Parts: sequence; structure tokens; C-alpha cells
Amino acid sequence: MSRYTDEDREKVRDAVDMVALVQTRTELKRAGSNSYFGRCPFHDERSGSFHVRPLEKHYHCFGCQASGDPFKFVMETEGLDFREAIENLADRFGVRVEPIEEDSGAAEKRQQKERLMALLDRTAGFYERVLIDSAEASDARELLAARGLNEETLRAFRVGYAPSAWDRVLMASREAGFSEDELVAAGLAQKARGKDGIFDRFRGRIMFPLSDQRGRVLGFGARAMRDEQGPKYLNSAEGLVYHKGSQLFGLHLARPAAAKSGTIVLVEGYVDALALHQAGVENVVALMGTALTDEQASQLDRAAGTLLLALDADKAGQKAMLRAGEIAAGRNIELRGACVLGSRSQSRL
Ligand code: ZN
Repeated sequence: MSRYTDEDREKVRDAVDMVALVQTRTELKRAGSNSYFGRCPFHDERSGSFHVRPLEKHYHCFGCQASGDPFKFVMETEGLDFREAIENLADRFGVRVEPIEEDSGAAEKRQQKERLMALLDRTAGFYERVLIDSAEASDARELLAARGLNEETLRAFRVGYAPSAWDRVLMASREAGFSEDELVAAGLAQKARGKDGIFDRFRGRIMFPLSDQRGRVLGFGARAMRDEQGPKYLNSAEGLVYHKGSQLFGLHLARPAAAKSGTIVLVEGYVDALALHQAGVENVVALMGTALTDEQASQLDRAAGTLLLALDADKAGQKAMLRAGEIAAGRNIELRGACVLGSRSQSRL
């Protein structure tokens, strides 16, 4: 069995000119710097309900709700499978890709990973609904509202709430056909010490999904509501999909604006990122309390040429700033304007 690596897929996606691609099927009119409209190629219509956002490489039809990325567009308009769509686009936009041979062990591991990501995605959806609807989450809703965050912002980042019961995610996931091993591997449940059985890892916490640059949930950062709950911040346990220090919170939302402006803003906390995004600074990502890693630096490097630091004025913030300076010095990245957010107690959730 052979397949393309994620890197190859991203290389092709980056190379695609979304407007040129869609124009092969329907004529588009420019409606803004990152907005084009035309008649939908997927349903019959006279008006232009079909919307393309070239920076995100995304299309959406307000008439028939068709939506997706360049790969899906080619799959649906030309009747290709995913692999053929990659090859077609690579050809068309001049990218070289090489399929790798995958032995049955690697294929199995990839399928395992895909199941865990499906589990994480549905769990994020569950936490989101709990935050919006449940009586139990009213303190969390108040706390977030007190920081000035509105529902639209919370939805954009898929912020949620984990109920305080020991087994809500466990029960729902089991019912959906996931095993206990999968729940543990996804970092959502843990084994009870000295006993049989497992329980939900996150209980009574505000949940911030940590995603890859395409917005797929890999894990969570979770903020306690009360002092006696243990650590104020608890992250997913390391597993098959979540690796500490390899994500930047909000990167998938920041990328289009970062590409457009050539600048990406780095802050320390989740809430700083949410607040800036809501204020219109969409090219913002958060470090989530970890020191900047090389992997994160290379993601920043790819996202924009200029890195703007907006870190706390405390020791940890200064350390992160120095580290960012070192990393930037070794790269083709310009470091600018070390603007500093207020004291920790004010800026941190
Ligand atoms: Zn349509």
C-alpha cells in the first residue's frame, strides 16, 4: 500500500491557487481581499451563492452547503479519490510529491491515529455543548464572560466545559464504539490507581482544544474552576496524537491572517489569544505555558516572516522572550516589538 505524507499534502495545499482552481469550473468575482463569489458548481442557481476564501483555501456554498478544501473540490468536481486529487493538484500547480510505501504495521498505526482523532473531535463537540447548555457550566460561562469573551469567539476556538462526573466521556465514547484503550491513548481517560477500570481525565474544567494547523483536535488544555481540583492547568497526557510542545494554540485560525500581514503574534495564555482574536488581531497564537520549542519556532517561521512577541512581564515571559530571540537568530525570521502584557493576574485567566 502506498500513500502521501502529511508534509506532501501540505506542500500541495500551499501551492494551490484556490481562485484559479475554482475558476476552471465557474467564474468568480472579487468581493474583498480574501473573498470571491460566483455561481455554485455543485447546484443549479442564477445568483452567486458560492464563496471562496483564497487564504484559507476554502469554499462554501450558502445555497447547497457544499464546502471544503482544494482536495475535496477536485474529488467532487472530477470524481477522483483522495490520492488522485493530490496527484492532480500537484501536477497542476507544479509540486513534486512522492508516494511512500506503507507496510501493514504503519497502515494500522495510521488507522489507529485516525480513530483517536475522530474520538477527540467528537469529545470536543461534547465539551462545547456542555459549556453552552448545561447548568453545571454556568460558573465557567460567567468567568469567560467576565473576561469579555463573546460566544462567537468561544465557538471559533471550540472552547468547552468538562462536566464534573467521572464517566461522562467514558460512557458516551463506549456507546459510540470506542474501547477503553482508545480512550486512554487519546489522553481522555486514565487508569484508576491500584484498581481496575478507568475514569475521565478532565472533570469540572474549562476545555481549550489544542489543534494542528488544519484545526484537527489533538488534545486539550484544561483550566480548573476551583483551587482544590489539583493543577490549575492540566494538559492531555502524551500519547499517539498529542505531544507536548508541538502545538501552538490557535495556529489554524491565525494562519490566513499571518500569511496576509506577514506577521504573527505570540502570547502566553489561551485567554490572551482569544481576547486579541476577538479584538481583530487574528494572527495570534498562544504558547500555553510551555517554553518555546524548536518545533513551535519552525511553525511560526512557516506562518510569517515577522514574529511579534507579546509575553507577560514576569520571569517566565522574559525567559520565553530570550529563547524566542535565540531561535529567531538562527532562522529567517525577524523578531519585533517586545510589547509586554500587564501583570499575570490581570492578563491570565
Ligand atoms: Zn451550491
